[in-house]
Amino acid sequence: MEWLYFFKGINVAAILDGKALSSRIRADLKVKLDQGINNGLPRPFLTTMQVGDDLPSTVYIRAKQRACEEIGIGFRHFRLPAETGMDALRKAVSEVNDDPSVHGLLVQSPLPSHLNEIEVQRMVAPEKDVDCFHPENVGLLYIGNARFRPCTAAGIIDLLLAYGFDPAGKNVVIIGRSVIVGRPLALMMMLKARGGNATVTVCHSRTRDLPSITRQADILVPAIGIAEMIRGDWVKEGVIVVDVGINRIPDATKKRGYRLVGDVAFREVEPKAEAIAPVPGGVGPMTVAILSRNVMNAAGYIDNYS
Ligand code: NAD
Repeated sequence: MEWLYFFKGINVAAILDGKALSSRIRADLKVKLDQGINNGLPRPFLTTMQVGDDLPSTVYIRAKQRACEEIGIGFRHFRLPAETGMDALRKAVSEVNDDPSVHGLLVQSPLPSHLNEIEVQRMVAPEKDVDCFHPENVGLLYIGNARFRPCTAAGIIDLLLAYGFDPAGKNVVIIGRSVIVGRPLALMMMLKARGGNATVTVCHSRTRDLPSITRQADILVPAIGIAEMIRGDWVKEGVIVVDVGINRIPDATKKRGYRLVGDVAFREVEPKAEAIAPVPGGVGPMTVAILSRNVMNAAGYIDNYS
């Protein structure tokens, strides 16, 4: 690519192509699945549950279903009415917990506000908790002995490693402290393990002078949910950026009236970056690939470290 830099006189960042990598991961999982079935293992099976009809959730579940079907993982989705209470949800979850033909179960978040998210996470049998939200699995992750790898955080790490960007020894700045993304990623990147060993800084909504911190990042991971918040002068030359944010902005040229952008102002940041994961096509498909991997793990096909 050097000739291209010379020709254009500007930097061209490598694209961390999560779409292409996730497709390779799915192909690899399919081979493992076919081998397992031939050796008498049961077909891995994922059940998803959704309470209400939040549109982004429906889109995410469809992506999970497509990935499962491509690999050969069995899939079933239950959509429960928005007014479903804790007792009815508990009953639905325990029926799946008790079904030996189901290996993975996830209850899609966000849940309607009358439901207690933490209690719901505790309902799912830990050995089927492929999202890694159950406190037992969070605890196992914390002590460095994970049963499942949290999907988005593991997807980010695997994307970096696949392109040769090992976080070890790097200054990693994560923006966002959510239980789904920021917190598990910070933990995994500081663990003494493959994909870890980084020096991690976690920023959030109360962080003062955020740009002065993001400018120190060797690897920057925004997981905020604010469209194009990270500007070109917030990063240093040579930064590696993994944009987690998924934001809709109005776009009259699109049939659906909007397009998806990340938390990073791509056109400003890309010329300074050594590598950047785009939105869409970066972390999103990796998250789904790791979920599929976790289902195969739950069904006894692979472990976390294979
Ligand atoms: P969240 O709302 O739970 O967390 C957002 C975080 O951003 C919070 O920790 C908050 O402190 C921080 N924040 C908010 N405003 C800030 C500011 N002005 N300055 C600094 N920090 C600020 O969201 P989440 O579930 O972690 O998701 C974050 C984004 O990532 C969303 O856009 C979501 O759609 C996306 N996401 C993508 C994937 C994927 O697979 N690609 C998975 C999960 C979430």
